[in-house]
Amino acid sequence: MESNVRMGDFSSYEAEEANSITFSLTQDCQLRCKYCYMVGKNNKNRMTFDVAKKSIDYILQKRDLYSCNAVQWEFIGGEPLLEIELMDRICDYIKQKTFLLGHPWAINYMFNISTNGLLYDDERVQAFIKKNKSHLSVGISLDGNKEKNDNQRVYKDNKGSYDDVVKNVPLWLEQFPGASTKATFSHGDIHLLKDSIISLWDLGIEEVSANVVFEDVWDEQDPVIFEEQLKELADYIIDNGLWDKYNVRFFDPSIGFPQNSDEHEGKFCGAGKMVAIDNEGTFYPCTRFMSFTLNNKPGLKIGNLIKGIDKNKLKAFDHLTIKTISPKKCLECEVASGCSSCSGHNYDESKYGSVFERATGICEMHKANVKACDYFWERYKQVTNCESERDRIRMLKKQEKEKFLQIIMSEDIKSTCNYEIKNKEKTFLMNDEQLKESIEFAENNDFKPVLIGDVLNKEQYKDYINITSTDSKNEDVIKVYKSEDEIVNNNSNIIINIRKKDIFKIHQLVEIASKGFEYVRVNLMFSDLEEWTSSDVEEYKSQLDKLMDLTLEKKGEDKVLEINTLNNVNPQNNKVYSCGAGKELFAIGPNKKLYLCPAFYFNYEYLDIGDIKTGINYDKLEILQRNINKIKNDDKKGVCKKCIYANKKQTNELYLSSEIQELITDIEIKKSKELIEQLIG
Ligand code: SF4
Ligand code: SF4
Ligand code: SF4
Repeated sequence: MESNVRMGDFSSYEAEEANSITFSLTQDCQLRCKYCYMVGKNNKNRMTFDVAKKSIDYILQKRDLYSCNAVQWEFIGGEPLLEIELMDRICDYIKQKTFLLGHPWAINYMFNISTNGLLYDDERVQAFIKKNKSHLSVGISLDGNKEKNDNQRVYKDNKGSYDDVVKNVPLWLEQFPGASTKATFSHGDIHLLKDSIISLWDLGIEEVSANVVFEDVWDEQDPVIFEEQLKELADYIIDNGLWDKYNVRFFDPSIGFPQNSDEHEGKFCGAGKMVAIDNEGTFYPCTRFMSFTLNNKPGLKIGNLIKGIDKNKLKAFDHLTIKTISPKKCLECEVASGCSSCSGHNYDESKYGSVFERATGICEMHKANVKACDYFWERYKQVTNCESERDRIRMLKKQEKEKFLQIIMSEDIKSTCNYEIKNKEKTFLMNDEQLKESIEFAENNDFKPVLIGDVLNKEQYKDYINITSTDSKNEDVIKVYKSEDEIVNNNSNIIINIRKKDIFKIHQLVEIASKGFEYVRVNLMFSDLEEWTSSDVEEYKSQLDKLMDLTLEKKGEDKVLEINTLNNVNPQNNKVYSCGAGKELFAIGPNKKLYLCPAFYFNYEYLDIGDIKTGINYDKLEILQRNINKIKNDDKKGVCKKCIYANKKQTNELYLSSEIQELITDIEIKKSKELIEQLIG
């Protein structure tokens, strides 16, 4: 049975990489919402046009800091629509100024307004919307059903605001079809979650960006209530077949999995790439650092109109990753993905006023969310008989965690990666007994054995992955070629070791290798990168362009061509995936010693990391891997984990890459991103 699922598909939220500039126009508002971050509302602290204009002029000339080609201009309050004339003037000025400067933001811009919606149908607001429609998004805050909303979002006299806002929703949705609303739940209203979300859907708001607050306001019962509410919501969706109609983040299928080291290095916060400006012309790294949004700490200022932005104050934001902020329990957490964190909140809750102390007040609530998410996808599977997206992700995660031990069968093999086989004095060959011993070692230590080289007793070892240069019609064999070899078109997973002299024929080799297959994976390896000149790099670039065309051509024929050099970028942090040597991948030589990968056996035999009797020497491994952390903190540039053997060969250090490696990696990242864009667009 086929089924479309919208639940968990948040692709529409993803925007082009953009700088975000926020103006806090006023501290005034018609409402006195109980959870509002703005304490001490007043109608005195409003931004003047002069402050806004000077801020815009300053930011537009700081391309070194705000270098994205797109921008989101955000307007917040208090209630920003109380200042509609000022906002209109500011937007006009932005459009004129960026146009006169020939700035890329003259074309690639959006104005975003977060409003309580009370003035939405006001004539002046409507005129503004008509004027800016094609570059405008308006978010109306509506917390849920009437009970929840009128509990929280009240006028000065405590009267609820629900009816006054809801009357404007049809016009809003007509003007902004597909608009989403944010619904935030806290201790006092978590029991209203299900009805609130359903009531927002009933109003026609299909995308509900629902969250629970980060603050540590939760008592012991709240996670239980939260899980129950979510399960009831799951039943409502499944029983009414609504998974293809509505979307709510709580059932995002990717939440609740352990995060790998690449994910730990991913960015989670845009602060620093954005700037928030208050009515006095003071700059903050994000609205969540503005004085009036913090409970425990003073606002974190990064500059002002007179002195400009202090780059020293931005330094910390360059280093914000899951890894740098998280306590051990989060880095080792089995359900970490989707557990959100906000740097502004972390700073506010921190002991020492640092952005590097992750607050975990949301911990038990996230775990409850994960259980309910499992429940949703299990029910979905039962009812639809379709494979669930969550199961697919779970399987990929499981594969990710797999560790491999490459068993080098003999020294008479072709290189399987970015290395060359050195002629050794003696030529070892692994006998059957040794092979069995190595396989046993692998299996006892949770490694998947991978046999490298020719297997004499093919039938006996047919269930193991085999990487070999010997001809085989076995589909599971990964066949290895040198670039001068003739490619026999038998296997859908092949490795080609490209020599400098053959760069010009990469495309031709891949084309031959991919002929006739529905799916084919080609792994290009380079064992003499250090010899490459700038003209080789240019040739390689043009070969990658041809490979991109070939991949797209295959896609047009409903076939899949995967090429490692164009499929190896982690979109979360724009880095190439590491091969995993020394982490998920190890090797054992015919000398019964363990290595980071086969390249080290063949070229740095003394750099073993243990042997078959004593196992992996984790002290040695830790020393090798400790170096990366030290280097990383000091200087990120020049650190590449793509091939630690190539690093060692060219810089003598495992985690310092050569200039040519960096150049090639940068090119591959750029081309991979281009290819992804073309494949999905
Ligand atoms: S806060 Fe809790 S649930 Fe979230 S990542 Fe940390 S340990 Fe895991
Ligand atoms: S995570 Fe928090 S501080 Fe960072 S950009 Fe988002 S709201 Fe701002
Ligand atoms: S370090 Fe990784 S990429 Fe480099 S040769 Fe070894 S396995 Fe291959």
